[in-house]
Amino acid sequence: MKINIAIDGYSSCGKGTLAKALAAKLEYRFIDSGAMYRGVTLAALRAGLDMRQEQPLLDMLPNVELEFAAHAGRQNELFLNGSWVEEEIRKPQVAAHVSWVASLPAVRERLVAEQRRMGLHKGIVMDGRDIGTVVFPDAELKIFMTARPEVRAQRRFDESQKKGIEVSFQEVFDNLQERDRIDSSRDHSPLTLTDDYRVLDNSDLNPTQQLELALSWVDAILVNLR
Ligand code: C5P
Repeated sequence: MKINIAIDGYSSCGKGTLAKALAAKLEYRFIDSGAMYRGVTLAALRAGLDMRQEQPLLDMLPNVELEFAAHAGRQNELFLNGSWVEEEIRKPQVAAHVSWVASLPAVRERLVAEQRRMGLHKGIVMDGRDIGTVVFPDAELKIFMTARPEVRAQRRFDESQKKGIEVSFQEVFDNLQERDRIDSSRDHSPLTLTDDYRVLDNSDLNPTQQLELALSWVDAILVNLR
């Protein structure tokens, strides 16, 4: 018996870390829905589009093909029109525009349809902003992740440093605040905490502790389904 697990929350809360760990432990498939919004954003940047104009981006959308596949021994990495882009979609330039791209209804409709198809047969752990509210409203487990803003910015800054991405702590902090603001206040599928979520604040938890907590929720749900 497999379930779908939706993990939503603010930017850089460790949603991906938890989602990957849960998927590995349960032998489920992990899908990073944010990577898909980043992929569309990268396609627009590569095409040299003016990022304040909606129409050229919508015209480009039918030519954007996104796929998750293995790369260099790692599972579920993003490919854009056949080429590996997992590293490039994490760059500050993509982060700077992605929340605007993700606020466009036509972009969301297209990506949500793809995400729903992936979840049809259960056994998916998907993280994002609207997974429990829009993509899989009937997900058996919905987790809302949060952490203090300074903790989140520090984690994202450390990650950027390790990857050699040139960015200051303040820039990372400001980008997170701005994305949270846009993601929570947009008209279409804003990030919303509804009462069917379990809240996981991991400001003071390490990855092992957060995994154990989430696994205890999974176990309780699976016992009830049997
Ligand atoms: O999760 P990540 O930070 O990589 O997502 C990048 C951006 O994509 C978010 O800031 C948000 O604007 C958008 N997003 C979204 N809905 C999702 C996942 C991501 O709007 N399900």
